[in-house]
Amino acid sequence: MTRWETRSCDAVRQVLGGRSNVFLLTSGSARILVDTGRRNRWPDLQDRLAGAGVERLDALVLTHAHFDHAENARRLRDAYGATVIVHESESGFLERGDAPLPAGSVLPTRLFFRGLRSALQRRVRYDGCPADATVGDRLDLASLGVNAYVLHTPGHCRGAMSVVLDDEIALVGDAMVNAGPWSVFPPFADDIGQLLDSWRRLLETGCRIFLPGHGTAIGRALLEQRYEERRRRVSAPRGRPPHDTAASRESPAASRPPTAVP
Ligand SMILES: [Zn+2]
Repeated sequence: MTRWETRSCDAVRQVLGGRSNVFLLTSGSARILVDTGRRNRWPDLQDRLAGAGVERLDALVLTHAHFDHAENARRLRDAYGATVIVHESESGFLERGDAPLPAGSVLPTRLFFRGLRSALQRRVRYDGCPADATVGDRLDLASLGVNAYVLHTPGHCRGAMSVVLDDEIALVGDAMVNAGPWSVFPPFADDIGQLLDSWRRLLETGCRIFLPGHGTAIGRALLEQRYEERRRRVSAPRGRPPHDTAASRESPAASRPPTAVP
């Protein structure tokens, strides 16, 4: 189980990886889970939580309500008593277990989705879950005993959020990705302008490590580099589309995940 530490947080553990990451934050007696992973990982998730000595959860923060992040929300709420926290614009999707798939943000994913989106949408429904608390722009988690806050970081979807710990580590959901050919810029995003604004917002926190919903940790230097590249592209002279397909040309070798506490 990969593990990080911050000034006041005893541990951030990656309790599930593979297709979707799930993180457990522990600070004193506080136990907070960020995202849920896929339905088929439920037994693994229970095992990992048991291995970490977790019988109850104070909260489940959903970075957003897409199926690959929220499919086990209902089970976690029922089995662990977790208070489910989601952005106010995602709570209806969570309740229905039917969050709209995001748009492709680069040529391969745009082509992939062409004509397929509505058929795929029917296949990504899950057991709906009521939200116990919703977030607008920001929610402080100090009342749960953690020096952390939830920040609205839209772009991948309108209600995307990140969890910021001690201004050292941010759990960013799909605001970034670091898996396969994708390095930082996510292959799916509803609004690229909003996404870049969210990157800037996350850089303003001073965090040094960004943990995405898919793939491995992203260091601050890499995010700064990608942000500047994207910003230059947006302000590039006419003739070049501001949001072209260059993400597909980004080299995964440029990814330099920071060292984690083993
Ligand atoms: Zn995702």
